[in-house]
Amino acid sequence: MKKTVLITGASRGIGAATAIVFAKHHYNIIINYNKSENEAKKLGEYLEKEFQIKVHLIKADISKKKEIENMIQEINNLNIKIDCLINNAGIDNDSLFEDKTFEDFEETIRTNLIGPFWLSKLIGLDMFQRKTGKIVNVASTNAIDTYYPMSIDYDASKAGLVSLTHNLAVQFAPYINVNAVAPGWTKTDMVKELDEQYIEEETKKILLHRFADPEEIANVIYFLCSKEARYINNEVIRVDGGWYI
Ligand code: NAP
Repeated sequence: MKKTVLITGASRGIGAATAIVFAKHHYNIIINYNKSENEAKKLGEYLEKEFQIKVHLIKADISKKKEIENMIQEINNLNIKIDCLINNAGIDNDSLFEDKTFEDFEETIRTNLIGPFWLSKLIGLDMFQRKTGKIVNVASTNAIDTYYPMSIDYDASKAGLVSLTHNLAVQFAPYINVNAVAPGWTKTDMVKELDEQYIEEETKKILLHRFADPEEIANVIYFLCSKEARYINNEVIRVDGGWYI
């Protein structure tokens, strides 16, 4: 029987690349999206046709408790059990510290941290009862050792997500592997607004001298859910091309 992965924010970027990697490995996929309905639909159609798997699209804003709960209700109504949960959806509200509002900070924390908490709790408890499951949180190197003047809320949210990863690994031991991936700069819509000079400066700090392709992050996310990674737990894996400052 095919396994099922739920990927939040799978309409674009790293989430969409992750959906493709899981599809190549014959998983059925639940694509969660919020605003990008067309992209999500296109991806779903492509995956079903190309890989002969079942894809469900679920619209839910993961910064909102009710929408998360509705998504879980929808999954239960479909009688689907989640084998892997990928907390990938995220936002960066880049703005200078002096311009950053309470509401900016709140939105970032709700999306990048509280949403993953609530989803992991509800889905994780079900996995725990079934004594099987994997959770991968998509954090960022910003959670660990990099500080940007524009992203105080983002950095705090991702540090929180790393902390959440460790706590969930304890809560769900010994049945669920809970890990995080910490990507460095990755070529997605999230970085398309950066100016060229800044990209050049940042690229110089990466030993591989380039930003990651989304599938290079997706491959590691998949690996953490594979049986080859069954003894990896409570870990944060940097995927940043070798970052040095
Ligand atoms: P992206 O291309 O901007 O895609 C973000 C995805 O998150 C979209 O699918 C979007 O869905 C979804 N999303 C945003 N807010 C949501 C909400 N409230 N509810 C549900 N879905 C929501 O970004 P990305 O680069 O792929 O980022 C994916 C993850 O990697 C994020 O957690 C990000 O922080 C992390 N990351 C990225 C980089 C990088 O350099 N790109 C580096 C480190 C970590 P809709 O469009 O449908 O709303």
